[in-house]
Amino acid sequence: MVFSRKEHGISRSQIDKAALDVLYSLKRAGYEAYLVGGCVRDLLLGLEPKDFDVVTNAEPEEVREVFKRRCQLIGRRFRLAHVRYGRTVIEVATFRGHGEGEQRRDFFGRNGKASGLAREVDDTGRLLRDNVYGSIDEDVWRRDFTVNALYYNIHDFSVIDYVGGMADIKAGQLRLIGDPETRYREDPVRIIRAIRFAAKLGFKIEAATEAPIVSLGQQLKDVSNARLFEEVLKLFHSGVGVEVFEKLRHYDLFQYLFPLTEKTLEQESEGFPRMLVVEALKSTDARLQEGKSVNPAFLFSAMLWEPMQVRKEAHLDSGMTHQDALYAAANDVLEQQVRATAIPKRFSAQMRDIWNLQYRLPKRQGARAQKLTEHPRFRAAYDFLGVRVAAGESQFAELFDWWTEYQEKDPVEQVAFANAVERKPAKRRRKPGNRNFLRKRSQQGQADE
Ligand code: ATP
Ligand code: MG
Repeated sequence: MVFSRKEHGISRSQIDKAALDVLYSLKRAGYEAYLVGGCVRDLLLGLEPKDFDVVTNAEPEEVREVFKRRCQLIGRRFRLAHVRYGRTVIEVATFRGHGEGEQRRDFFGRNGKASGLAREVDDTGRLLRDNVYGSIDEDVWRRDFTVNALYYNIHDFSVIDYVGGMADIKAGQLRLIGDPETRYREDPVRIIRAIRFAAKLGFKIEAATEAPIVSLGQQLKDVSNARLFEEVLKLFHSGVGVEVFEKLRHYDLFQYLFPLTEKTLEQESEGFPRMLVVEALKSTDARLQEGKSVNPAFLFSAMLWEPMQVRKEAHLDSGMTHQDALYAAANDVLEQQVRATAIPKRFSAQMRDIWNLQYRLPKRQGARAQKLTEHPRFRAAYDFLGVRVAAGESQFAELFDWWTEYQEKDPVEQVAFANAVERKPAKRRRKPGNRNFLRKRSQQGQADE
């Protein structure tokens, strides 16, 4: 079905300049060119698209010919072109086909170059590689949801709809194209994409698309940890993190992303630590709402805080110093988490900093305060302390307020303010051999070493 310019609300003024240039350049070079995916969906819904994806019948090498040095070809599993305009990158994909009856193009591109095995599926039905090129009416079937499979045609400004996506947008529902179980097995990440879009768009998941979600959830265990890391960020940095979290729990999927956190949630007492996760997500959602940046390390340190605490307690019981227990607990937790989602080194280092700083923030007398604020992770650690207070650790409310006030003062006032902090009374120092005392202190997050 084709919706002409008059029958839909997308106008060129809403389309990113760079994306328009890509579309027109491809058109001038004699190729078909469409906007597709989330951007068309969002424009139809009156939302601002996150990025603009272009699809064309030009093969990646041909796209490079059109854009020359602006263009970089990327991806093995899924080869595509990136066209760069300053900081903006427009992704240009070539229509994918099914390759049946097209054996030759499985092995040879249109320009006759051998390209290896173009499409590979493993014995569980998972798609390993998809570089069989095709036409728009083949491309549409490999897309996930009907609302993500609308094409905006630069030749006549129409929207092409093969799968009823327009009606689903109007009905506010997410529907997988084809047989849901098959489509989830091909790529289990579609399961969590369903959750993300449902939360983000406020759409309901249509019954047949919803039905297999819980039983197929465990397929997520086989998704590479690197890809799951990326998906976790998309889920929780979507601006609707709280809702995503509730939905993931509802469909029993959270366990595949944060297995250790899931265990502590099962044993939650007095709303803690569930409250901590929710408060951290609330704070992240609010930052995104205000157009502020968000840090993956903050998200992961909040998600794994409680599992880390449990392990730290065990290490303290076995006689370790607080410093060692914290270090070992962080190691344990990170090592186990990366089996589910990768955590790039730079982020795990920041997570350790955020955790360590929780125990340094109380020690702010005199010159220490200034020194702490110079730590690159100070701000994240301070925000995290705020999240802990909001989640019910009211014993830190005063400390958090102190740091809030400190940051509002000018440098001269700050010195006086930090000098006025009372040194810790000697009796609060750790006594050797008094493990219970140590433990209680560490639970309050104030142990010294
Ligand atoms: P977002 O708003 O997050 O950018 P999006 O729908 O644009 O949402 P992308 O990941 O940017 O999502 O992908 C662009 C398009 O590519 C999708 O709309 C969909 O048509 C297709 N697509 C992406 N991932 C998959 C997948 N795992 N399976 C099938 N189709 C996919
Ligand atoms: Mg997109």
